[in-house]
Amino acid sequence: DGPSAGYRRVLLKLGGEMFGGGSVGVDPGVVETVARQIAEVVTTGAQVAVVIGGGNFFRGEELQQRGMDRARADYIGMLGTVMNCLALQDFLEREHGIETRVQTAITMGQVAEAYIPRRAIRHLEKGRVVIFGAGVGMPYFSTDTAGAQRALEIGAEVVLLAKGVDGVYTADPKLDPDAKLYDEITHREVLEQGLKVADATAFSLCMDNRMPIIVFNLLVEGNIARAVRGERIGTLVST
Ligand code: UDP
Repeated sequence: DGPSAGYRRVLLKLGGEMFGGGSVGVDPGVVETVARQIAEVVTTGAQVAVVIGGGNFFRGEELQQRGMDRARADYIGMLGTVMNCLALQDFLEREHGIETRVQTAITMGQVAEAYIPRRAIRHLEKGRVVIFGAGVGMPYFSTDTAGAQRALEIGAEVVLLAKGVDGVYTADPKLDPDAKLYDEITHREVLEQGLKVADATAFSLCMDNRMPIIVFNLLVEGNIARAVRGERIGTLVST
């Protein structure tokens, strides 16, 4: 049951920037679009776990450049991701009736469950969407790394890396008009060609553990469902 048969359990990584619709805060229009597409997939029986970034609120590195202590800045960044998680939970449950649990790597019992991997798996088996917040809970890491780590620990078959571009290109398509989109590429080739799919920590976790990554355009309606069905969209990175 490889990609052609579709995936049973996926980890969807969403960048925070998209959630903000280009500015600081949460853009309800974008969250609604994403929630609708996730709901569509869940009703087909696929199990969906989600990791959301926080770039629409704070990035530790940017706060550090403005003089803040890096670790504290990173905690601020992690807390930002939780707001995105709650926004997505709200749209999934209220608009689509999809049961959703948020689990955070930094405990905050009033708003979310703690990250408990076996419990997360249980939720998924019951058809609930599980949204992981606060990254891996440690400064100096990224939510891409959280996506890779959670995917491995909960036994997801693939990381679906949602972007604002169609996939992995030979060069930056914004700078080079001749850049070509890869259909498929290996983890090793990504490294050898110096391409950037995710940050180095996230990428090496996937490479070392043979975790495939599909990089695809979130802004194309229906793409999440296509990826989960095993249709070849975007770029498949595998070993
Ligand atoms: N962050 C962190 N540890 C983690 C995940 C995130 O310290 O495990 C912090 C880091 O400062 C990062 C911010 O949270 O800049 C927001 O996450 P990220 O930049 O990954 O969000 P995205 O770019 O996906 O929106």
